[in-house]
Formats: sequence, structure tokens, C-alpha cells
Amino acid sequence: MQHFSTPIVALAVTLWCAPLGVSALAGDPVATSRPLTTVRSAITADDVRSDVTALASDDMGGRFFRSPFAEKAAVWITGKFTSIGLKPGVTGDSFRQPIDKNPETGPNLVAVFPGPVADGSAVAGAGTGYIIVSAHYDHLRPRRSGDDKIYNGADDNASGIAGMLAVARAMKACSAAGQGPACTVIFIAFNGEEAGLLGSTAYAKAPTVPLAEIRGMFNMDMISRGPARQIYIDGGEIGAPVTAALRSANEAIGLKLRTDEHPDWLDRSDQGPFLAKKVPAVLFSVEDHEDYHQVTDEVAKIDASLAAEVAQLVALAAIDMSRQAFVPRVAVPAANPGSVPTPAKTAPAPVSTPAPSAPSAPHTP
Ligand SMILES: [Zn+2]
Repeated sequence: MQHFSTPIVALAVTLWCAPLGVSALAGDPVATSRPLTTVRSAITADDVRSDVTALASDDMGGRFFRSPFAEKAAVWITGKFTSIGLKPGVTGDSFRQPIDKNPETGPNLVAVFPGPVADGSAVAGAGTGYIIVSAHYDHLRPRRSGDDKIYNGADDNASGIAGMLAVARAMKACSAAGQGPACTVIFIAFNGEEAGLLGSTAYAKAPTVPLAEIRGMFNMDMISRGPARQIYIDGGEIGAPVTAALRSANEAIGLKLRTDEHPDWLDRSDQGPFLAKKVPAVLFSVEDHEDYHQVTDEVAKIDASLAAEVAQLVALAAIDMSRQAFVPRVAVPAANPGSVPTPAKTAPAPVSTPAPSAPSAPHTP
């Protein structure tokens, strides 16, 4: 995450009452059919620690932007995507989404866990739309002097990548048990976050799916430092549907959620460019700590149990969300420009309709 405030998002003037999803109520089928046991066995602290150990090793050189070390991390992450069984998420059957034309610039990495076809679902709109689970994989360039020159970035943000991969493993396990997500889940490892949210900004400009069809985004950036069993979640007004899903799913996990206490963080990690385009998004993060952006941010200091529980919460909330009613936030543009716009995909009335001031333009910027 970044301490400085980027100028690209003016949230104060873009706040808009996004349509709220239906939160899972106690006793309803969504809440009572949560795959808690499957998620708990699929996401372990040992696996998280193992992934953080690999990504935060000196061999990865700090994974800094536009370096062979970031490329090494990218190869490692795409290997994990493949071994988990995720599908390439970029046109041309690739995991790699270029973020600019500089040949030294590494890509975002986009993978897909396809949801089942929604036809016949008991809940209108369940199965449509997309959920994004994300984290950035880049960190910082080595310093020039000192015994230890490498910024390992164990918490920032090997922990988030490990959490994202853990959620992917959980989706696969739940699906195998007949308890998987009802819609497609997209996993994105962003690049260039530390250089100014470059990867997420590029994705929001050229998304692999329509932004209006994204139900919610769960972005993890620093999820493995104390206090124990506590995490901040910040999404503000636009992120409220995701926050609601998290609060509900947390009834099963029991973390101490500190919600919307850091509006100053909303534009400081990769959820920022999405919130700026009205995509409900939430940042998971711990408070800045003594090893933040220091060479001492090393794997020995992480709380892998916290990161694992955050990932468990994300998995449960995402599955809840996938089963809820959904309509795209704006009309889907007609295939033939100039023809009458097609209505929303789902037949029944939406849970809530876009505010009158909402943009009626297509999702593309
Ligand atoms: Zn970070």
C-alpha cells in the first residue's frame, strides 16, 4: 500500500448511491448453506506461509516494477494459477494483461474460475456477473547500502497474493463439493501498485469484463500483521454491498472487523481505480507497522493465521454474494450501436435501481 495520496481519484465528488446487493440474512438459504468446513480445510495458515515464503524470498529481489524480479514473481504466480486449475482471463488465452507499451513493464495477471450456468437458478440473477479477488505482486527496488538491501515485502504484499491464491483453492474445493460460487470469480495479481496504481488503473481502463457487471471486488493489500484476528475493511459508500456481504459472512469466522475507519486508504491501493468507476470494492489491510516499506518486512514476522482467516472470510463472502440477486449497474450496451439498448439480463425487477444521476453510458470509459 502507499502512504502518499494519489491524485487520480476524487472520491469526495464521485460518491454515488450504488445499488445495494441483498445481504444474507440469518436463517436464509444463503447463510445456512455456507461451505464453512470446506473453506476452513482448503485455506490453511501453513499454505499461506509457504506462499509468502516463496514470494518474499531474497531470490525474488523485492519484485520491483519493471524488473526481472517482478517477472520471476509473475512466472511463479501464473504457475500457481495453472496448478490450481484456473483459466486464463485475458483474450488470446493468456494470463497476462499488458499495462503499457514499455517492453520492460510486466503485466497484470488475470485468471478465471468459471461459474456454472445460471439457468434454472432459484434466485433471479444469481450466477450472472463477476466477482474480483485481487492483490498486487510488485514491491520495492533494493536500497543501495546496508547489510540487508532487499525489500522482501512479506506483508506488502506477498500476504495478499497468498490470500488471493488461497481463495482460489477454496473456490475449487467448494465447487468440487457442490458448494462453489454461483458466478464467475476473477483473480487479478496487479503490477505497478507501488509505482502509482498503474496496473489497476490500466485494468479499469481496459477491463476484461464489463465493469458494470462486477458484483464486487475484494482487494487484499497487507493482511498478515497484528493485532491478532483483526483486519480493517474499507470501501466507503460505493463499497457498501461488499462490506455488507463481509459482515454477514464474518458471523461464521468471527474476526474483529474494523469497518470504514480509513477513508484515507480508499485511493491508496488497487481498489481506488475501481471505486472511481462505481465498482463496489473493499480494501483489506492492517494498520501501518514498523516494518512497512522497510527491508525488515520479512516472512518471520507475519501472522499467517490472520491472513488465512481473512482469505476464508473473502471466500465465504464471495460465495454468498454470487448466490444473490444481481443486475448490472447500467444498461448493457446493445451489440449494434444505434439500436435500442438491451434491458438488463435478468427478468425480475432489480433489488434497487441506479440513482437518477447514475451514468447511463456503456461501461467503457
Ligand atoms: Zn501494498
